[in-house]
Amino acid sequence: MVISCCDSRVHVTAIFGAEQGEFFIHRNIANLVPAYLPDGEPHGTSAAVEYAVSALNVSHIIVLGHSSCGGVKGCHDMCTGLAPELEKSSSFVGRWMDILRPGFEKVKHMPDEAERVARLEREAVMVSIENLMTFPFVKSALDKK
Ligand SMILES: [Zn+2]
Repeated sequence: MVISCCDSRVHVTAIFGAEQGEFFIHRNIANLVPAYLPDGEPHGTSAAVEYAVSALNVSHIIVLGHSSCGGVKGCHDMCTGLAPELEKSSSFVGRWMDILRPGFEKVKHMPDEAERVARLEREAVMVSIENLMTFPFVKSALDKK
């Protein structure tokens, strides 16, 4: 399974030299995985992870981040007050980017904005991997190797 960004510049099969259909690919804004939250609400990314692990028995999950990510920059701008529209409860993008707020907390001390945003792109991968580990079926599959 590959979890990558919606960004049209990120072509997963081209990066890995794979054929179409070779990977189970899920794309969303900023390649984020939310924490496990079985609240009865619809969760597209969590559904994709569940299906990949529990039904397809994928052997690996790759979280593929990328540079110049508009989603990550949006999170950065939201967290620094530059994008107040993303703070509205009605913003789907803003509420999605809330997943990355813990990552922003780790980089907010960095003085250079470009370096801070680039580091936040890496944090998007790390936060997603940490959140993957909150899914009991992912943890269980890892324990079974
Ligand atoms: Zn992106």
